[in-house]
Amino acid sequence: MRAYVIENVDFWQMSIPTNVNWSFKYILRIRPTVLHLFSGPIQSLSIRSIWDDMHISTPKVSWQHLVWFPGRIPKHNIIVWMSILNRLPTRVRLLRMGLNIENDKCLMCGVVAECRDHLFFGCNFTKDLWGAILALCGLYRGVSGWDSELAWAIYCLKGKSLIVRIFRLAWAGHVYSIWTERNSRPYGGRARPVD
Ligand SMILES: [Zn+2]
Repeated sequence: MRAYVIENVDFWQMSIPTNVNWSFKYILRIRPTVLHLFSGPIQSLSIRSIWDDMHISTPKVSWQHLVWFPGRIPKHNIIVWMSILNRLPTRVRLLRMGLNIENDKCLMCGVVAECRDHLFFGCNFTKDLWGAILALCGLYRGVSGWDSELAWAIYCLKGKSLIVRIFRLAWAGHVYSIWTERNSRPYGGRARPVD
């Protein structure tokens, strides 16, 4: 195997540092699954061979139809994608990353710590909004937490029917709207009511 040395540290042997970003941690974590690609001469390694290998060996995630579907609104779905991966910089995550912010309280209610699960389906504000959106779509049911709402969307929003497409757009639109509303509030933005 070809040696890859970064600042005197062997890339293949180094342990995963805690003070690097998540994408580099991810690269380090998947080393065992890509090791075979680097066992031959470097000249035989191509982008195509890496892509083919990834394409075959990587299983589809159960939520892929919520992120990538015809008619999606890209700026909505990039936020959906990041929220499912729990990579959005919520206040809980910002504090964990060492950023100097006053507290971790939710910017919607000001009471509960602002983690992903609370922000999108746990906060009273967001519960009311999602409940109203469901009602507009003709579905009258209580709003559950993040895990349950995601499981519902994964299970129920499959297929190509018009109503499924509308619900997928609504789910993504809800997540996007909450995130933009949350971002506008600390910078003098007017707090919009659920209506
Ligand atoms: Zn809240």
